[in-house]
Amino acid sequence: MSFYDGKKPHKKNARIVVIDAGHGGKDSGAMGRIGKEKDIVLAISLKVGKYIEENLDNVEVIYTRTTDTFVELHKRAEIANSNKADLFVSIHVNSNRNIKPYGTETYAMGLHKTKGNLDVAKKENSVIMIEEDYSKKYEGFDPNSTESYIIFSLMQNVYLEQSLDFASHVQDQFENKAKRYNRGVKQAGFLVLWKTTMPSVLIEAGFISNPNEEKFLMSENGQDYLASAIYRAIKDYLLKQESLTQNFTESDSIKKREVSINTNDNKNESNIIFCIQVISSSKPIDKSSEYFGDYEVKEYLIGNSYKYTVKENSSYEIIQSNLAEVREKFPDAFIISFENGKKISLKKALKKNN
Ligand SMILES: [Zn+2]
Repeated sequence: MSFYDGKKPHKKNARIVVIDAGHGGKDSGAMGRIGKEKDIVLAISLKVGKYIEENLDNVEVIYTRTTDTFVELHKRAEIANSNKADLFVSIHVNSNRNIKPYGTETYAMGLHKTKGNLDVAKKENSVIMIEEDYSKKYEGFDPNSTESYIIFSLMQNVYLEQSLDFASHVQDQFENKAKRYNRGVKQAGFLVLWKTTMPSVLIEAGFISNPNEEKFLMSENGQDYLASAIYRAIKDYLLKQESLTQNFTESDSIKKREVSINTNDNKNESNIIFCIQVISSSKPIDKSSEYFGDYEVKEYLIGNSYKYTVKENSSYEIIQSNLAEVREKFPDAFIISFENGKKISLKKALKKNN
């Protein structure tokens, strides 16, 4: 178990996962009838870390807290950034004025699509108001002002695709292995995820405001279920990332048409193209389906999942300028990139294109 408040030497080639137990110390988080968010999420976080440490040799765990202490939101992101983490997992529990809602949801950083999602972010962000100088540290961000959240619509999150992918692993595990109600993968402007420079998610592992779910969240058994689900999601995600960087396969039907792309820019030694992914699916989708409207759609088989993209250009700026229009039809759309037909991270593509 370790708390690294800054840089530290790591095992060679180890993957680094930061486990962030929300709240702590003077910040209790959401209050239930019998429990507090800060205690529940710390217990789950320590269990997740323990599973990783016991089962995954080449993965190091860094906790933002291991005790009941107050850690500022920006500090949590800094711990992940300075340790060059591969994944940031912030663990919380939800609450609502109404006692009925229950179930789990996992968020990636982005602009909320519903008021409900915005409310979850507002609640989690409001903790900065008990931090000193919060206005300075968060660039004038007002956690309670809806207008403040507009900045998240302007933000291009280069880790969005991976964050959403990891988030869906978490939700799958919660639903299928821990038998929790799946409220889905969502996006909203969480300050704790704002400045992280790696795939990052915020998990709401259940509603402390729902009496039944609170009992589950407070129980050793319930915490074990949730922690092992999160652990398995981390393991699956890291394994998939490893295999993605090594093996890439295109659907046969695509290969032929892709040839033209590889010749459209002979100034660069490598051909980098950008396009907009609108959906990914474990089963193939008919490209002429009404779902895609008038868009010309391309299909890629990456790992076990079919990715469907629209628009395509060697200029990132052009693709970026198409994004708003595409998002009108596909709100979750985001930019991805390929080099010589192989998918590469957007960060890498932008670096190479400079
Ligand atoms: Zn919280």
